[in-house]
Amino acid sequence: MSDCIYKIIPESPNGDISANADKAIAYLKRKTKPEDITFTDHGKTAFIDCGENLASISCPLCDAELSFDWWGNAMNEAFENGFSELSRTLPCCNRECSLNDLKYDFPCGFAKNEITLTNPKKEPTDKIIAKAETILKEKIKIIICRY
Ligand SMILES: [Zn+2]
Repeated sequence: MSDCIYKIIPESPNGDISANADKAIAYLKRKTKPEDITFTDHGKTAFIDCGENLASISCPLCDAELSFDWWGNAMNEAFENGFSELSRTLPCCNRECSLNDLKYDFPCGFAKNEITLTNPKKEPTDKIIAKAETILKEKIKIIICRY
């Protein structure tokens, strides 16, 4: 069986959840009983992917599906500048959009740090996430990942 991993990241690519990560980890450990839970500080903005769960990427402005080729090139360019500039002109409707705002199915994101829960026995519900948000003092986003 493959692992189910929940990555908890700040909603904003510039967000930072390091200050209260220890407290949030203690809370999440108690509530979700994961096999493993870790905090990772990437030190700079990184792409937080959902592994095999990523089925499609589309434009939030016109709903057109974007090709993985176009996206791969845009990501390589963005990676070269350390993901400091995520804005791109989209090929579908020629409008400006951040790579962070594309519609990833399942969701993906950009973040400097993350809390990773591996195979929690209990799913992190909205209520648990809301409480974790309060502890972290930061809006968060969940990336559900499968490898
Ligand atoms: Zn578009």
